[in-house]
Amino acid sequence: MAEIDLKSSSQDRLMSGCSLWGKAGTRPVFRPLDDHLKVDALVIGGGVTGALMGQHLCERGMSVAIVDREQPGLGSTAASTAMLQWEIDKTLTELEQFYGFERAVGIYRRSAAAVSGLAKLITGHRIDCAFRPRQSLFLTSNHEGARDLAVETDLRQRAGLPSRYLEHCDLFTEFELDRDAGILSRGSAEADPLLLTWALLGMAGEAGARLVDASVNTLHSEGNRVTAETDGRFVIEAKAAVLATGYTMPGIDMPKLHRATSSWAMATVPQAPGTLWRDEALIWEDSHPYLYMRTTTDGRIVVGGEDDDTVDPAARDAKMPDKILAIREKMKLIWPQADTSVATSWCGTFGETVDGLPLIGPVPSLPHVYGAYGYGGNGITFSYLATQMIGAMMSGVYRDWFDDFAMDRDGPGGQSPKSGTRDVEMVAG
Ligand SMILES: Cc1cc2nc3c(=O)[nH]c(=O)nc-3n(C[C@H](O)[C@H](O)[C@H](O)COP(=O)(O)OP(=O)(O)OC[C@H]3O[C@@H](n4cnc5c(N)ncnc54)[C@H](O)[C@@H]3O)c2cc1C
Repeated sequence: MAEIDLKSSSQDRLMSGCSLWGKAGTRPVFRPLDDHLKVDALVIGGGVTGALMGQHLCERGMSVAIVDREQPGLGSTAASTAMLQWEIDKTLTELEQFYGFERAVGIYRRSAAAVSGLAKLITGHRIDCAFRPRQSLFLTSNHEGARDLAVETDLRQRAGLPSRYLEHCDLFTEFELDRDAGILSRGSAEADPLLLTWALLGMAGEAGARLVDASVNTLHSEGNRVTAETDGRFVIEAKAAVLATGYTMPGIDMPKLHRATSSWAMATVPQAPGTLWRDEALIWEDSHPYLYMRTTTDGRIVVGGEDDDTVDPAARDAKMPDKILAIREKMKLIWPQADTSVATSWCGTFGETVDGLPLIGPVPSLPHVYGAYGYGGNGITFSYLATQMIGAMMSGVYRDWFDDFAMDRDGPGGQSPKSGTRDVEMVAG
């Protein structure tokens, strides 16, 4: 019998401050267990990943339980700036260097397909979550960066991805942005991540999923079943389980590919009418640490970045004033018209991988247990991708490309987690 210990770590270690999301939303009710429960699929975690996963498995006709030990959605999901992008934290140029052209292009196309699948899910079910399709603008601020973006655009166009190179004069005349170059891409979007999560949990609940208020303390995998011991008297037995526990990855031997960082974000007051940039495109930069910006339906600018490798929540919180100051200054450099007055600010744990890709698929050595860890700036895009992949895996369908995202995959240069694993008991703390 194989088992993992899911030690506790609380949401206030994942996020501090107050984000904008979820106003006027209905928080779904999670109830404690009053008996043992038997389901096809157990989803541990009720953030955006668990919500997407649970809703998808219900649509596949499975009986489902979604378990969260805290307020669903108020972990990393509430901290997200929810830019729903197909552009990955690593450029196509970088991914090609890591894995070759064919594999890199396949990964980018799947990311694009995930955003469009998510968009169809939201619009098809008329999910009220401030969803808006958006173009994205990837900016550089120097000549060297401009050359790199030209190469990146060529590569994307060879891959059939909807990107266009903008020189300084194009950026200035089309967007009033004073940068050396940029890539304009179609096919991204934005949303309110908390409204999305709560709506999906509600849909799963209506489709028969049990929304359970409990902590899963230990997960055993034996024969054809997985058993979850909770903090109460009752257990949940399932044919398969999905770990959607976000940046807390308890008790799993994690690949070397992964590391925890922190990111800071703020929302401005609503801007004066007519002062936002053209089309309110999603904006992000090639600099390190980078800045990312979007707008909201009530005319605010949401901006984040200044990522660093702080993991201790107290140290992360102490940095908040300086980080927000730096973000405001950088925002002003990109969009001088901005009123940078802070309406609210927050920060959270962030998970990254060496290749910018998520960790999705069977958890090594734990039969019938799957991990859905959508890391990086595309966390939510990858959460959707995880639902499609794990849903297929549970039905016995496997594709070669699933290996590109496997939890025990070789990293760039054959950096294999198998050749040196480290045990991460609890990434977030
Ligand atoms: C500042 C910031 C900005 C970001 N911006 C973006 C962005 O623009 N676009 C994007 O796509 N992504 C972005 N991300 C990343 C994105 O927010 C995450 O990828 C996503 O929210 C992860 O969701 P999740 O459901 O996996 O995790 P969470 O929302 O953290 O949910 C995990 C849940 O699991 C529960 N849980 C854990 N262990 C147990 C257990 N043993 N038993 C029961 N319950 C358990 C927790 O209580 C929690 O509710 C950003 C993140 C941060 C911090």
